[in-house]
Amino acid sequence: MAERKRVRDEAHEHVRVAVIGSGFGGIGAAVRLRREGVTDFVVLERADAVGGTWRDNSYPGCACDVPSHLYSFSFAPNPDWPRTFSGQEHIWDYLERVADTFRLRPHIRLDTEVRGARWNGERLLWELETSQGRLTADVVVSATGPLSDPKTPDIPGLDTFPGKVFHSARWDHDYDLRGKRVAMIGTGASAIQIVPEIQRDVRRLTLFQRTPPWVMPRADRDITGAERWLHRQLPFTTQLRRGLLWGIRELQVQAFTKRPNELGLIESIAKRNMARAIKDPELRAKLTPTYRIGCKRILLSNSYYPALAQPHVDVVASGLAEVRGSTVVAADGTEAEVDAIVFGTGFHVTDMPIADRVVGDEGRTLMETWKDGMKALRGATAAGFPNFLTVIGPNTGLGNSSMILMIESQLNYLADYLRQLDVLGGRAALAARPSAVGAWNRRVQERMKRTVWNTGGCTSWYLDANGVNTTVWPGTTTEFRAATRSVDLNEYEVLRPPAARPADRGGRKLEVSA
Ligand code: NAP
Repeated sequence: MAERKRVRDEAHEHVRVAVIGSGFGGIGAAVRLRREGVTDFVVLERADAVGGTWRDNSYPGCACDVPSHLYSFSFAPNPDWPRTFSGQEHIWDYLERVADTFRLRPHIRLDTEVRGARWNGERLLWELETSQGRLTADVVVSATGPLSDPKTPDIPGLDTFPGKVFHSARWDHDYDLRGKRVAMIGTGASAIQIVPEIQRDVRRLTLFQRTPPWVMPRADRDITGAERWLHRQLPFTTQLRRGLLWGIRELQVQAFTKRPNELGLIESIAKRNMARAIKDPELRAKLTPTYRIGCKRILLSNSYYPALAQPHVDVVASGLAEVRGSTVVAADGTEAEVDAIVFGTGFHVTDMPIADRVVGDEGRTLMETWKDGMKALRGATAAGFPNFLTVIGPNTGLGNSSMILMIESQLNYLADYLRQLDVLGGRAALAARPSAVGAWNRRVQERMKRTVWNTGGCTSWYLDANGVNTTVWPGTTTEFRAATRSVDLNEYEVLRPPAARPADRGGRKLEVSA
């Protein structure tokens, strides 16, 4: 290994494409590259296995709240999904199998963390510094995902807590919660899956709820043997099922993006879901949101409210503000003595951590470039970062459908990007024009104005520190698919190495950078 590392260091291994991350985005990119005939690529993964967020989140009850037949790659349908909403272990296993089926293993470098990536404008390539040595790449595809780095709030006194502390995305399976007094912080998608699972075991559960979520019933069931048999025998039935699931969500999104006032009907279904389990009017008042449904992610659960109705579960309708020894203190002054604190407080989404490690053509990091908000042309390319594409980049998130649809659209864009470079011939790079990035972003933000995420009366992680929605796509997945079908070269400047300027080296007519 040491020998291999040294050779790599000395030789500065070069690849056509370096993909960062091996979650759905990175594995999808790898499959797409192979299908496009690109074999000169690596997938750099900091952990010791593929799977991304589905590898890291192993908390009790972890499952996807998008139906499995939609939450899978269109090019790798799985007739054997066990449940309508499959659990984490099945989704992780699916990704492992995709890596095998599409023969990705030789490309995947595990335990290889990207520490830095710097654009070399003379040689038109990216220089990557990894925990296993250096390499260079013509094109970098950043597929680190928005849910990769857990966020734990800076709580005064947390360091004085004598008990156990962990984040939902770093579950400590060696710690036995049975018989313990536990504080659960947060009421997002993760927390509401955790609460019903752990309340059965713990002595006392204190839930710190800063903002109540809207929780809808979850139509979760086993997929029967007959259904699976049918999907295996007649593969088009899997496609049909997927199409139906997609179509329903595609219609729903119109209400989210254009007619938030029509969401009242959905609110009444969520209220009935709560009323069925929560009989105590005081608790019901605490749990009832005061913002429009959909403004924050709508959560799905049949077991969350029944868990909160248990006598050994307390809901504190206030955020965790302080820790004093083994006492956790809410912003409203409520105190509880606990043995363990579990943070279900989400991820660094609007401040994409990899951005701090990527240095573009002017020597600035992507983080600095994005200090006033993340912006990327068609969710993929940022001005000043040639040949650098982000999968699940700015404004590509969805409020109500499968992110795999968006990922596959971005992979179409990547495939065409590489084709365009091929057509150009010779050493070349594409640099997103600031004017094109600006125009795209203005269009996105204009459409965002009337969406439920901006008008629904809540604060959410969809919005960045400046209150700008830099995460969600304000349209249908069909619209995004159309917008990313191909690369419009008018939106890019074609760069050539200095030695090649000003002569055109063949291919179509080129623009030469200054
Ligand atoms: P999240 O949605 O960001 O939720 C974080 C929670 O922590 C919020 O309820 C937030 O309250 C709360 N919080 C933060 N600081 C707090 C404090 N000091 N005291 C009390 N509460 C505090 O994080 P998440 O639940 O991990 O979910 C992140 C994303 O992961 C989801 O939106 C979803 O995209 C994905 N996810 C998906 C699934 C799935 O089934 N597909 C499952 C889990 C997660 P506020 O609301 O007041 O900010």
